Amino acid sequence: VAIPTPRKTAALLHLSRVRKTFDGLNAVDTIDLTVREGEFFTIVGPSGSGKTTLLRMLAGMDRPTAGDIVLRGVSISSLPPNKRPTCLVFQSLALFPHKSVGQNIEFPLKMRKVGAEARRERAEELMRMVRLPESYYAKNVMKCSGGERQRVALARAFAYDPEILLFDEPLSAIDYKLRKTLEKELKDLHRQSGKTFIYITHSLEEAMVMSDRIGVMQAGKLVQVGTPEEIYMRPTNRFVGEFMGETNVLPVRSDGYGGFAIAELPDKYKVAGHGEALEGFIVLRPEFVQFVEAQHPPENTLRGRICNEYSLGSRVQYQVQVGKRVILMEQPRGALCPPGDGGEVLIGWNAADAAFVAE
Ligand code: ATP
Repeated sequence: VAIPTPRKTAALLHLSRVRKTFDGLNAVDTIDLTVREGEFFTIVGPSGSGKTTLLRMLAGMDRPTAGDIVLRGVSISSLPPNKRPTCLVFQSLALFPHKSVGQNIEFPLKMRKVGAEARRERAEELMRMVRLPESYYAKNVMKCSGGERQRVALARAFAYDPEILLFDEPLSAIDYKLRKTLEKELKDLHRQSGKTFIYITHSLEEAMVMSDRIGVMQAGKLVQVGTPEEIYMRPTNRFVGEFMGETNVLPVRSDGYGGFAIAELPDKYKVAGHGEALEGFIVLRPEFVQFVEAQHPPENTLRGRICNEYSLGSRVQYQVQVGKRVILMEQPRGALCPPGDGGEVLIGWNAADAAFVAE
């Protein structure tokens, strides 16, 4: 059953040519971006690409060297953190270690001078929302597990009642299984709360699961903004294509007659949407390379030999040696079985399943 996602169209936050320079270097290099109201927007990028610097400027912890941050048409660039409608949830969580779960969650309410009874009521409500047992109210936060502390930090962020929740890699220190659970919970929580989430991570996999849209950063620049589907299937450059795990990046050159040569591969191939002369790369995801069945050959086929086979659990990854090149492919376990070891196999892909990038 497809869950209908509400259309998020109203612009909430606008970054206009935002730049941050440290010691003459642009940590964030002239970014333009609009985040929509109620959106789950994730910024991904490798270490040092400027994600945290960008988030700190949104939270008001750093001022942009140039450019403007505008909320519903009003500049917030010079507002201090506590005057902004944002709340930052850190990787390190920044909980008060000597206080109970309840005291941690109630802290923002206490600051706003909310009475004890109303505070407790709201804290219990938030604990239910993040699925913390009621009995944890008086528990010391240091006696909670990592995942539980994560929930406390989240409940406390909601207690501030910000318009925008900013997340700085909140799940990076958590083990794989729990992280997978929390990713889905966070997505549910986002849907229920209707708040705008801006989330940073270096894991595109994490971003794909949760986000309405993703922005990819490379060396301080925002190189692509799009839905998870667009980022995965239509990367704008090699870097974005390769950022999502292992993929084939094949150098292509037009022969001028509608066919394309792939470096080190024998034949001519089709590249979707490109009849004209050009040179660049195709990003071909391993799962779109198939073993060819004689009756339904895809547009592009290659003959090669399987040189390695790896089990990925539900899928199997193959390295297929084609001439001097190794093509990576992935098929569901139990998919059409190729001929025996060392035997030749015919593999292929449809042109529309590979993305052309110029650089
Ligand atoms: P990570 O995933 O490792 O957290 P990131 O994408 O968040 O990386 P930033 O922390 O934003 O990257 O850093 C971007 C660049 O700016 C890096 O080269 C970093 O060394 C530099 N930088 C960040 N903060 C400062 C600072 N306070 N002073 C000087 N340089 C800084």
